[in-house]
Amino acid sequence: MAQDNNHILIIGGGTAGWLSAAILAKSLNSQSKDGVKLTLVESPDVPIIGVGEGTWPNLRGTLQRIGVSETDFIRECDVTFKQGAEFVNWSHTPTPQQPHSYYHPLSTVNHSSYNFSLAPYWLQQDVATRLPYDRAVATQARLCDHGLAPKQIVMPEYSAVQEYAYHLNANKFADFLKRHCIEKLGVNFVSANVTEVVLDHDEFISHVTTDSAEQPHLEADFFIDCSGNRGLIIKQTYNIDWQDISDVIFNDTALAVQVPYPNDDREIKTHTIATAQDAGWIWDIGLRNRRGVGHVFSSKYTTEAKAKQQLIDYIGTDYSDDLMIRTIKLNHGYHKKFWHKNSVAIGMSAGFVEPLEASAIFLFDAAANMIAAQFPRDKAQMPYVEQKFNQHFTMRMERTVEFIKLHYCISQRRDSQYWIDNCDDKSIPDNLKQRLSYWKSLPPTKYDFDNAWEPFNLDSYLYVLYGMGFETDAANVATKYTEKDAAQAMFNDINKASDLLIDKLPKQKELVDKVLQYGFAKV
Ligand SMILES: Cc1cc2nc3c(=O)[nH]c(=O)nc-3n(C[C@H](O)[C@H](O)[C@H](O)COP(=O)(O)OP(=O)(O)OC[C@H]3O[C@@H](n4cnc5c(N)ncnc54)[C@H](O)[C@@H]3O)c2cc1C
Repeated sequence: MAQDNNHILIIGGGTAGWLSAAILAKSLNSQSKDGVKLTLVESPDVPIIGVGEGTWPNLRGTLQRIGVSETDFIRECDVTFKQGAEFVNWSHTPTPQQPHSYYHPLSTVNHSSYNFSLAPYWLQQDVATRLPYDRAVATQARLCDHGLAPKQIVMPEYSAVQEYAYHLNANKFADFLKRHCIEKLGVNFVSANVTEVVLDHDEFISHVTTDSAEQPHLEADFFIDCSGNRGLIIKQTYNIDWQDISDVIFNDTALAVQVPYPNDDREIKTHTIATAQDAGWIWDIGLRNRRGVGHVFSSKYTTEAKAKQQLIDYIGTDYSDDLMIRTIKLNHGYHKKFWHKNSVAIGMSAGFVEPLEASAIFLFDAAANMIAAQFPRDKAQMPYVEQKFNQHFTMRMERTVEFIKLHYCISQRRDSQYWIDNCDDKSIPDNLKQRLSYWKSLPPTKYDFDNAWEPFNLDSYLYVLYGMGFETDAANVATKYTEKDAAQAMFNDINKASDLLIDKLPKQKELVDKVLQYGFAKV
């Protein structure tokens, strides 16, 4: 078989570019002379967007696989541990008498709904006395309440008592990955602006030109567009059709600000907080030395000045006029193809869905892993992989849009036109509408998720549905789900395990400080 697909060029050195470079260089053995050669070109003039600070647990596995020390990563990227997200004021209009929030924890650990779902049994419990769904079925919600870390300092790198991901400084993370890629994984780095993407007579990319005097031409066999919003290949060269989703997800602007802690004693949350507003929501992420806070909103329903004031009010006494609030325009949607000819787009260039569930970095990682696993060394095999990749990632984008929309469209909030329109049937994708209609009569099961690669699984749906107060017909459930004793035993075990963990686990800040001081044992 021919081996004519031997050199990859990545354009762009943001989170998408360097994460893809690391995963591909490791998997395709770029350090060896028989491996696939990997070059990354990054503009010295265009800064990275630098805002993605929340991640998913898959990043732990990725960092371990590419040979990163977790201790170094935590020390160098201002990292804290993340165990989930808390959604405040999403289910109904907030009043001081009726505050409401729920967690979407990162895992159930104690049981998996795929094997035995507790949801039908929770639905049968007395509404007035039962625990909220998140606290009833998982230990992690109560740990988040207490700001506890997911592990102890004596545990080795990457191992966990509770599933965890990270909050990180996006700029430092890109620099950290860059060093690792160049020093340890054999990635060649070129600092230059790509000025033109040059096609051959079959419209495959032959090379790109740059403004560098030393390297004016960069040739490769395969090209990855990680150039962010610009989409140098996917948009500017191939002009691939765009799937607009602004009729489903309304937010089009983000305001982002970095808020230093006023003193060193401040506790650091072990989860992301997403607080709903009348025309959007505010994120709040606690890093080691500061918070990252931002307001994502729709300019159709509010003004930037009002959104900014809401952000300032939210930050409260930690706000000062010295802080710089950045405005970022959001272009929601994705390209109808990601892989075209001998190129593929990963990152913002491929598409964007708002960061309510911090799913973007997970999708970059998943894309790079799929390309690494299927990378054809023989160019003749490319069309098959192209078709698989496009099918796969279109499904992932569609399901991401549906899951984000779920947070809005089952809300009881009707206090602004934004919420009224978000709950309007016309704005809900058909697949989600069908699922919601069915889930009114019976709770979701694993059979509703027929694609193993859906980014949001059964447990994620259960947390959001029942955290938001979605109503499934309990009488219908009672006739069907009868293993009540087994379910009760599990509820009891989870409650006991939560008590035990609350007793044993350190506070988030204590663990982070100990990692800085001593580090974890290396695996
Ligand atoms: C407000 C906001 C919050 C977000 N929060 C999260 C979150 O919590 N979790 C999450 O997973 N995701 C989040 N995201 C999404 C995502 O993580 C980021 O948008 C992401 O980091 C974008 O990375 P990127 O590498 O695609 O693009 P960028 O960071 O924009 O990088 C683009 C790169 O291309 C280079 N480039 C551009 N033009 C050229 C050229 N001509 N020649 C050479 N190089 C060029 C640039 O120099 C840069 O290196 C968020 C997004 C936004 C907008």
